[in-house]
Amino acid sequence: MTALCDDHDVVFFDLDGVIYIGRNAVQHAAEVVSELKARGIGCCFVTNNAARTPIEVAQHLTDLGIPTLDSEVVTGSQAGASLMRDFVAPGSKVLAVGGPGVAAALIERGFVPVFSNDDEPQAVMQGFGPQLSWSDLAEACYALRRGIPWIATNMDSTFPTGRGLAPGNGSLVMAVAHATGRQPDAVAGKPEKSLFDEAVARTKAVRGLMVGDRLDTDIAGGNRAGMQTLLVLTGVCTRGDSAAAKGDEIPTYVGEDLRSLLVEPVLWSDTIGGIHA
Ligand SMILES: [Mg+2]
Repeated sequence: MTALCDDHDVVFFDLDGVIYIGRNAVQHAAEVVSELKARGIGCCFVTNNAARTPIEVAQHLTDLGIPTLDSEVVTGSQAGASLMRDFVAPGSKVLAVGGPGVAAALIERGFVPVFSNDDEPQAVMQGFGPQLSWSDLAEACYALRRGIPWIATNMDSTFPTGRGLAPGNGSLVMAVAHATGRQPDAVAGKPEKSLFDEAVARTKAVRGLMVGDRLDTDIAGGNRAGMQTLLVLTGVCTRGDSAAAKGDEIPTYVGEDLRSLLVEPVLWSDTIGGIHA
């Protein structure tokens, strides 16, 4: 018997609904990640969430019993800042709209984050931040009226909180789009390719496996990036949603939870008749 994980050199994990839900780790996540590492398989955590820095995410995972280095975390902000190089030269001033993760990623890639249009930024990067206010969005609007490039870290319409689904970065981007009549020039996060490019470049994965709980972001993005994909049913997606998947949202494999990495793989096509309970 070959376990699913043994076919892969790096496993890429989505976070929410896969590794944790709200404040709590998903059952079996810690033991499975630890077993993969013991087998010499790389583990990389990829998140669209731009609010937190990789250091903060790694600390959160470590606190949940999953010891993680910041180098094992790839965020939408990092992918966005890499993508920014296609639009403006390093050293350029970029309006950082979002949490601390946005400015930190820009600095890491050689840009100068600024927070007001009065500083004459040459581009705008917009990511999620729970403290974002009207005046932050107003600065983005003033800047974008000058026709400069606009990168969104991701377009998630919602953001899961302990109290339910709140507006995600995509909803705040749409507020700016509505006010300016513009759309972002590029989007970095899942299901777009930049986040995966960043993660593969970082880990040098040859046979990566993307594990996620959402068909339209994790699975579609992993498939488009040329990886095999595993849908786990610990997050938003039900067995019924899985069976209804179409086109590039069809996962390679389906599993109840992360323990499915440690056993023989179950192909999606073998699950659609409801044979596997
Ligand atoms: Mg998720």
